[in-house]
Amino acid sequence: MTAASSREGGIEAGSLSTVEAYQAAILSEIRPLAPVSRELADAEGCVLAEDVTAAVSLPSFDNSSMDGYAVTAADVAGASKSSPVRLRVTGEIAAGDIGVYRLVPGTAIKIMTGAQIPAGADAVVPVEWTDDGIATVEIYRAADAGNAVRYTGGDAAAGETLLTAGVRMRPMQIAVAASAGRKAVSVRPQPRIVVLSTGDELTEPGTPLVAGRIWDSNSYMIAACAREAGAVATRRAVVPDDPAGVLPALLEQIGHADILITTGGVSMGGEHDVVKAALRELGTVTFRKVAMQPGMPQGFGVIGEDRVPIFTLPGNPVSAYVSFQLFVRPAIAALQGTSDRSLPKLQASLTAPVRSPEGRRSYLRSVLDGSKVTPLTGQGSHQIAALGRANALIIVPEWETQLPQGDTVDVLVLP
Ligand code: AMP
Ligand code: MG
Repeated sequence: MTAASSREGGIEAGSLSTVEAYQAAILSEIRPLAPVSRELADAEGCVLAEDVTAAVSLPSFDNSSMDGYAVTAADVAGASKSSPVRLRVTGEIAAGDIGVYRLVPGTAIKIMTGAQIPAGADAVVPVEWTDDGIATVEIYRAADAGNAVRYTGGDAAAGETLLTAGVRMRPMQIAVAASAGRKAVSVRPQPRIVVLSTGDELTEPGTPLVAGRIWDSNSYMIAACAREAGAVATRRAVVPDDPAGVLPALLEQIGHADILITTGGVSMGGEHDVVKAALRELGTVTFRKVAMQPGMPQGFGVIGEDRVPIFTLPGNPVSAYVSFQLFVRPAIAALQGTSDRSLPKLQASLTAPVRSPEGRRSYLRSVLDGSKVTPLTGQGSHQIAALGRANALIIVPEWETQLPQGDTVDVLVLP
């Protein structure tokens, strides 16, 4: 065992959870959502719950990849600028034309991109190699057999699997499903997330502030985080610090949510920690300290008959943000049966020294620029202005209390 991992192990044995242990505890409780049928127009961001196979060959008929003239390669074999081949043009085939055409050897048929290759033709001479003639055409260059022809099945064979279950429906995959003739697909939908912030001090942005109050930023931020992470998110009006009001406010949302998220009210033991007080009674939500900074106080569990997962994030905005990215984000993917949404982690060199409390993993707001990362001034968990300047989080391991300029560190790239 290395020195580092034994020290890590020591933390796990203590009263604090490691980040990984807490992530694992959450994921072990998440069951993927049941598949539903979604029309393609509504399938973006959903995760396929079935394989999609090609109903027909792609393309399903030989067609031209260019505007030009369908010919036989043999007829144009000797064509050059100084000695053009002249052919009579006997017709024209446009894309979508379902007529039956046959090329008579020694003639040409004008053809458009995507139009069927007429029987008897084996090549297309692009219009750029000709005089663009109407009744007859002069051809200045030889075309090999198969030139500018897209053959049946050249993209995929009939019955071939085009998309496998577990793939997220991004625009490319929607195009594939449509090209396979599918009107709807079986998917795990985007999880529905309801966000509630708690606190008597919270005022709705856009309304005047009186001394002692702050504008609610968490509910807007976390709802936006959830959308970015692939969920459908709604925020609810602020819940006051009234112990009797919190649980009803949460239970009211249960039918609308695949995940509930609260912020605030879970600090380390004050009587105003109404979220903790209300949920503790239920016995299905666990509160623990995670060996990280920001974001030490965390709560997760299930509520209601449907056992809806609930995250109680800390109130400080930066803590709530980091907690979302570490704990809620993987849970959203897990509800869709995937793990494709984790934040990119890379290494960069510190442009300035950093500090971190012993025994806790720090996630420092920073600016990543190529292979260099600069910690921002203002690492307090309330310092939302610094968060607004960050594009990355520097990870300082639990066993480090300071790292010098020039050290290589792990960095999480923020979405
Ligand atoms: P709490 O966890 O409720 O004790 O809150 C911790 C800190 O976060 C306090 O300074 C709160 O004012 C602040 N806070 C709580 N909720 C929000 C919110 N929705 N928006 C901005 N700050 C908040
Ligand atoms: Mg509070």
